[in-house]
Amino acid sequence: MGPNSSLGNITNLPLSDPKCNSDACLAFKAGHLASQAQISWASQFLYGHYITWYYLAIIFLAMLVYAHKLVQSRRLVSVPSNGTSVLNKALAFVRLISYRRIHGRLANIIGLPSLGMLLFVLITCLFLLLLAFIQRPYYRLHRGFGSPPLAVRTGLMAIALTPIIVALAGKVNFITILTGISHEKLNVLHRYASYMCLFLSIVHTVPFIVAPLKDGGLKQLHKQYYKKGGLEFTGTPPLGILVGLCVFSIPWIRHKSYSFFYRLHIPLYVTYLGLIFWHATQELDSWAYLWATLAIYLASITSRAFVKCQSFNVLRPWFQGYSAHLTPLSGDMTRVDVIVSTDFKWKAGQHCWLRFPHLSILHNHPFTIASLPKRAFSNTEKAYDDQTLRFYIRSYRGLTKALAVSTEKSDQALDRAYTIHVDGPYGGLIADLSSRYDQLIFVAGGGGISACLPLMLQAAIKISQGTASTNSIHLIWMVREEMHTEWAREELKTVISLTEGKLCEFNFFVTDSSPAKSSLRASGAVVPSAREIQASTAASTALGIGQLHYQRPFLLHFLPGMITGRRVMIFGKSSKD
Ligand SMILES: Cc1cc2nc3c(=O)[nH]c(=O)nc-3n(C[C@H](O)[C@H](O)[C@H](O)COP(=O)(O)OP(=O)(O)OC[C@H]3O[C@@H](n4cnc5c(N)ncnc54)[C@H](O)[C@@H]3O)c2cc1C
Repeated sequence: MGPNSSLGNITNLPLSDPKCNSDACLAFKAGHLASQAQISWASQFLYGHYITWYYLAIIFLAMLVYAHKLVQSRRLVSVPSNGTSVLNKALAFVRLISYRRIHGRLANIIGLPSLGMLLFVLITCLFLLLLAFIQRPYYRLHRGFGSPPLAVRTGLMAIALTPIIVALAGKVNFITILTGISHEKLNVLHRYASYMCLFLSIVHTVPFIVAPLKDGGLKQLHKQYYKKGGLEFTGTPPLGILVGLCVFSIPWIRHKSYSFFYRLHIPLYVTYLGLIFWHATQELDSWAYLWATLAIYLASITSRAFVKCQSFNVLRPWFQGYSAHLTPLSGDMTRVDVIVSTDFKWKAGQHCWLRFPHLSILHNHPFTIASLPKRAFSNTEKAYDDQTLRFYIRSYRGLTKALAVSTEKSDQALDRAYTIHVDGPYGGLIADLSSRYDQLIFVAGGGGISACLPLMLQAAIKISQGTASTNSIHLIWMVREEMHTEWAREELKTVISLTEGKLCEFNFFVTDSSPAKSSLRASGAVVPSAREIQASTAASTALGIGQLHYQRPFLLHFLPGMITGRRVMIFGKSSKD
């Protein structure tokens, strides 16, 4: 008897017969072929390519913008004498819109980015939605005719997002190298790309549940789910992990238990990647995205370990940190001076991850470098023995609190040298502010001053060397108590002496525990404008390096009165940023 003799009875059954459920039934086979001819399974893999092309095109555009900015940053921009050009006005308008943020409880919980970033996220979402849903039909007549097209393409789109998600996450990553966009900004996109991947993964899953249910109810779903070689079963664990990763990365939840998130995030993602290899079973080019992800991840962590992390830097002795001095300051602030060799290079506005072995070998936290390299202070290449990376660290909860406590406890805090491991520098600004703007206004809240100081120092140096467009530097610094203004007195004095004082105006606002505060409040004083504040001597005293005000500035009123230049950069940073 031939192999088909036992099937002979189903060969000619109509498609409506439940037994006609495989290619052995001619009607089923014809339907299967017709369905695949209409939308082939393989054609759906192209959707993964579209995602890759979309992101490559965006990176290319960002590269062009970066190249333009790099060229511009080499030129000293003079202030236009004949009014502001239409282009500049248009640019200012775009910035006005794109830098804004939506505030409110919900916006804080989900961590909404600036409007510009949000627009990019929305355009990407729209692109993904169109790709996912524009082609029809979403389902085939029978599950046996092949996987639902909607499920295949969204699955491939989700996998194609994997290398992009990982590239956007790395502290050292090729997107930053190509576009100059720092890792903190890319991290926001990393989070949204992950949410999109989750959305696509859910859309990928639903048709695989619905199609067998339509064919034969729960029994058919159960059979399909546990079918030998089927992918439904292997897709469940990575989907569960992806849900966990996305939920824990919601800013409100992440901030509540940062250590938990930090320790779990990478091991979970590596597990997810391994499970996706298992789930995708090398169908067509599905593994290409996963190999790319692995390559991007390994390149990122090895370059971070051997280039950025100074304790493993290929050019330095291993396992040796830098010696550092810790100084307790008022208001739960600690000044950390790390003595680094002169070949350690950094720019104003960059930050490092610091590890304090005497407190915890496992934790490292990011802090902004408040000082400039020694070579910045000199036109000529001088030989120095060492230089100082200065950080101002505000005590919050975990490590920073332990740091403040340990520094205060130590009687010889000023003399005792600690060892600190430095990973960095990262981030920073592309443009040199002092060559692009004629007025720089810095607005800092508390510890946020550490981000302003190196930029102020850099501008002051350029002014002293006669290579700056900037002709005035203003500072508005809000501190809780008067004595906090002492934190940065040294650096501010340097700014004044470099610019010979003529071009600097520093205003310190003491917002708490001041006697004047309560009297101002009691009198129901209206929030004063810049001119009113300048005229008012009642609530302000000279501090030697600037004016001290016992009140909270209302920036919307205060800032416009300060603007005297044509090209003005207002740089704001609070300790909570
Ligand atoms: C780029 C950057 C520069 C910073 N510069 C300064 C500075 O100059 N001075 C200063 O006082 N503070 C700075 N901070 C904030 C500082 O990193 C946190 O205050 C500090 O890590 C809190 O640690 P904790 O142990 O006290 O609290 P935790 O309870 O451990 O964390 C509190 C919050 O700090 C943030 N945080 C903690 N660990 C990390 C980490 N490894 N990576 C990113 N964020 C983390 C999270 O938002 C978390 O919710 C900076 C933060 C960033 C992202």
